[in-house]
Amino acid sequence: MNEKDIIQKYFTKAINEQSVIAGIGDDAAIVSVSSGCELVMTTDTMLEGKHFSKQAPAYAVGYKLMASNLSDIAAMGAAPRWAMLNLTLSSLDQSWLKGFSKGLLECAQAHNVVLIGGDTTSGDCLNVSVQLIGEVPISKAMLRSNAQVNDKIYVTGIIGNAASALRHLQQKKFNHHNLSAAQYCALYMPDSRINLAIELREIANAAIDISDGLLNELEIVCNTSGTGAKLQLDKIPLAKEISTENAITGGEDYELLFTIPDKYTDQISLLAHKHDCLISQIGEITNNNVVDIYEYNRSIPHPKRSGYDHFAK
Ligand code: ADP
Ligand code: MG
Repeated sequence: MNEKDIIQKYFTKAINEQSVIAGIGDDAAIVSVSSGCELVMTTDTMLEGKHFSKQAPAYAVGYKLMASNLSDIAAMGAAPRWAMLNLTLSSLDQSWLKGFSKGLLECAQAHNVVLIGGDTTSGDCLNVSVQLIGEVPISKAMLRSNAQVNDKIYVTGIIGNAASALRHLQQKKFNHHNLSAAQYCALYMPDSRINLAIELREIANAAIDISDGLLNELEIVCNTSGTGAKLQLDKIPLAKEISTENAITGGEDYELLFTIPDKYTDQISLLAHKHDCLISQIGEITNNNVVDIYEYNRSIPHPKRSGYDHFAK
């Protein structure tokens, strides 16, 4: 089996999508962009041994790679459209490729994303990377930098399941069998908040995905917006088996944090219901320039670390 055969067998699916003028097979892909839209582009890379363990199910690695990119597209309020896949394989393991491609393509299909190309090489370390391209109506994207003083801060989902799953796997030598369903899904098959986010872009001032830790991402919103925030820990819905501090700094939760003006807050419960998604108000944007943390109105000291950073010492 050579490079061409791998691409043909595992990654080439019939494309039934009008926007794709040339997909896999030519030197480069061609797509036509919807009129009145801007392109939104993101990419995410996962390395074996760093972002997933050797024991991680191949299906889950593929699913998560697509889902993590979807989460970034959702955070912009865009609709995902086209994906490109870069693979560096350390061996030709067909059963791994079968599981990986199934997870990746199932997640893509569930969100109307088509795989239109990529690159396949061999190398010392298994490395998988997706570039995802979406569309958003002109100037409608949600930015991190647009939070306004007095906005209410919301977060989707339950926080800490992914971090507690990771902790569990590290302690139990990566035995996946006794993860709870909530832990497994949060770590490997996170729901993408795409449909919710497409409606949020009409009312939200700022949005970010919290995959590097809720506190860290809220600080980024505040720093880039030139604001501060009051964060109420007791309002954050927490996973079981994890401390509040680990939940808000742990990361890996592919949920959205967003801020909206007071006048729109009564729309939130309707959206939560419509998209079957827990949405919790966890604080508000202030003009303080720092994130002040409270628990039941008591001020809480800042944790030493806010979230995940590849290069932090
Ligand atoms: P070239 O040698 O011109 O770069 P390639 O042999 O790398 O072409 O790729 C041939 C076709 O297969 C291209 O359309 C490319 O986008 C696609 N492709 C290569 N690797 C992948 C992959 N892992 N997933 C999807 N498409 C791929
Ligand atoms: Mg190539």
